[in-house]
Amino acid sequence: MPDFEVTIIGAGVIGLAIAARLSERHPNLVVVEKNEKYGMETSSRNSEVIHAGIYYQPGSLKARLCVEGREELYALCGKHGVPHKKITKIITATNPEELARIEAIYRNGTTNGVELKMLDRQATLKLEPNINTVGSIFSPSTGIISAHGLMDYFYHTAVAYGATVQHHCEVIGIDPLSGGYRITIDEHGHRSSFTTEKVINAAGLFADHIASMIGIDLERTGYKQYFAKGSYFVVTPSKAQLVSRLVYPVPLNEGLGVHAVLDWGGRLKFGPDVEYLHDKKIDYTVAESKRGAFAASIRRILPAIEDEDIAPDMSGIRPKIQKEGEPPKDFLIVHERERGTEGVVNLVGMDSPGLTSSPAIARYVEDLLYG
Ligand SMILES: Cc1cc2nc3c(=O)[nH]c(=O)nc-3n(C[C@H](O)[C@H](O)[C@H](O)COP(=O)(O)OP(=O)(O)OC[C@H]3O[C@@H](n4cnc5c(N)ncnc54)[C@H](O)[C@@H]3O)c2cc1C
Repeated sequence: MPDFEVTIIGAGVIGLAIAARLSERHPNLVVVEKNEKYGMETSSRNSEVIHAGIYYQPGSLKARLCVEGREELYALCGKHGVPHKKITKIITATNPEELARIEAIYRNGTTNGVELKMLDRQATLKLEPNINTVGSIFSPSTGIISAHGLMDYFYHTAVAYGATVQHHCEVIGIDPLSGGYRITIDEHGHRSSFTTEKVINAAGLFADHIASMIGIDLERTGYKQYFAKGSYFVVTPSKAQLVSRLVYPVPLNEGLGVHAVLDWGGRLKFGPDVEYLHDKKIDYTVAESKRGAFAASIRRILPAIEDEDIAPDMSGIRPKIQKEGEPPKDFLIVHERERGTEGVVNLVGMDSPGLTSSPAIARYVEDLLYG
């Protein structure tokens, strides 16, 4: 009999959402986390936006799990008091060419089942009088959420059902046994191991490294992750009231474009940009040298912002499975049965909208393992 029925590697929002979901019926579950507390990596370094599901390829996991996850999030936030606000969003076209592009975005979003409205210039300026616009898409179901509040909820739910969350515990090896796996961990330099029937790899930036521990060839499978840093600049408080909802540009290439984000402290931030970290070194500092480029991107949508109105703020790193310049790829959520590793689920390339999708991802993983 293995020590645990289920082991989840990684206590970010996705690992915790899965733990909260599975532990009700499978309480002999452990979450192992290398840091001193849950949620210290990508899950606490993002825009905290509840995405509506507008941009993703129809039929993709991102489209489906974002739309489902968004509805589940609003329901659970309302029921359990997780701080959130349906603040709404505008995607503004700043010239006639962009107008044609927002029509395509509108069609994509409605195909995904998202409620959207096209607004002309006047109607847009009524909502946001300070932005640069010739017309826009209005998304009534976009919101913001406290990522920490959500993780606290998932954590306490899992623990209340009897799950264990073990911090300071880095997974350094996974070996197959008959009917399960041996997990080797490093706790403060001390090595030990335990056995488990099922393994869920929710290790975020290191999910490809964990997948390689069970013998997956990262290049051949497309599981290799690239790090794409996203930095934010904060706007001076005297100009923080210039917008009252999330305002996005028409995306230019990778990412959604530097956009206006309102955070829980009432601050107005702009970000994230996209910067591939070719050495894969984790570095969260925000370079002052980006100020000029940031201010120029912001002025595209909010002309009143001067270079000196913004200051470097925070950053996060997205695990991407597409190389720089390649089109976006879908989440990879795979039960590795066909690769001969029954009971192992890998979650790779869990970039945005991973926070929004987290409750739906948890249900999807449950179906893969127990459906
Ligand atoms: C700049 C930016 C903006 C974003 N904005 C949004 C947004 O507005 N809305 C949205 O829906 N999504 C957004 N996202 C995406 C979202 O943040 C992620 O999809 C989500 O947080 C991923 O959660 P996770 O649990 O997979 O990863 P993580 O939070 O990274 O958690 C993984 C955990 O695994 C642990 N771990 C790794 N290796 C090991 C090991 N060997 N042993 C033990 N533990 C290990 C790590 O310490 C970490 O705690 C954004 C992302 C970024 C970077």
